[in-house]
Amino acid sequence: MSGAAKRVRLRALAKINLDLRVLSKRPDGFHEIRTVFQTISLADSIEIAFSPARKTSIELDQDVEIPGNLMVRAASVVLEAMGKTGRVMMKLRKQIPVGGGLGGGSSDAAAVLRALPVLAGRVVPTPLLVRLASALGSDVPFFLFGGKAVGIGRGTELFPLPDGKARSAVVVTPGIQVSTVAAYRDLGALLTPESSRQGQDGFSTAVWGNEGAMRNDFERVVFQQQPQLAAIKQRLAKAGAMPAMLSGSGSAVFGLFRSKEDARRACKSLGDTAQAVSLVSRQQYDAIWKRQLGR
Ligand code: ATP
Repeated sequence: MSGAAKRVRLRALAKINLDLRVLSKRPDGFHEIRTVFQTISLADSIEIAFSPARKTSIELDQDVEIPGNLMVRAASVVLEAMGKTGRVMMKLRKQIPVGGGLGGGSSDAAAVLRALPVLAGRVVPTPLLVRLASALGSDVPFFLFGGKAVGIGRGTELFPLPDGKARSAVVVTPGIQVSTVAAYRDLGALLTPESSRQGQDGFSTAVWGNEGAMRNDFERVVFQQQPQLAAIKQRLAKAGAMPAMLSGSGSAVFGLFRSKEDARRACKSLGDTAQAVSLVSRQQYDAIWKRQLGR
């Protein structure tokens, strides 16, 4: 026996990392990082329908084959946390390139964590939602909040930041998949107590508003393996981006611009793999979510 299905359509936004330092490897196997996350307007499209039933079943129709899609795990853990059973039918249309350092998988998972309780008519307290999100992946908790935020530890301890001056960005996605695991392994081999101290100091300087000090440690290893990404960074900087940088462990490279016009002009000069996006503040992120969930 099953009740009537409730459904929503969602946009799961991508992120860029405005700064990213990898300090050291921790005893639990994760790396200790410092980062600044920022949501952007690039987004996957998701539809979710839920109807209560005696047994749980979770189906996902996806336009890109992603084995072990995090959305399915997210649905399973949040239903369990609510003590609910039912039929979940989800549809995913990817716009955020997979393995691009833009957090698409994490955002899709966070979208499911936020939406399913609403469809099931339950409230999951935020601390529990954050705990479920952290267990799914280090970038997932950020997408529960969005905007601009500092992430420390594994990236799951989050602190809001005020919006910066730049409102527009150009994101270049050259169709290369970079393995985050391999990037951490290669970078891990170069870490020393001294590099960790420098990373911490440099991060504080950047967060206090020195745009020139913004940096992504993964560039050290990823640019060596993929020199075309370093070339994209240079082209963005030449087109006026301040800063231009790898996002996450790549392969997306972004540049920040003060105005939409500057971003559009730069975009034209960079070709097909470049797209202009806007930075999405926490206030805008909240508004998008309120609208999507009809609250
Ligand atoms: P990360 O830095 O965490 O590796 P990313 O931002 O580079 O993430 P994602 O698009 O999130 O890139 O994909 C990372 C990995 O997560 C992929 O290898 C993919 O197999 C897996 N994954 C699981 N679910 C999803 C999803 N819904 N969308 C994209 N990738 C997913």
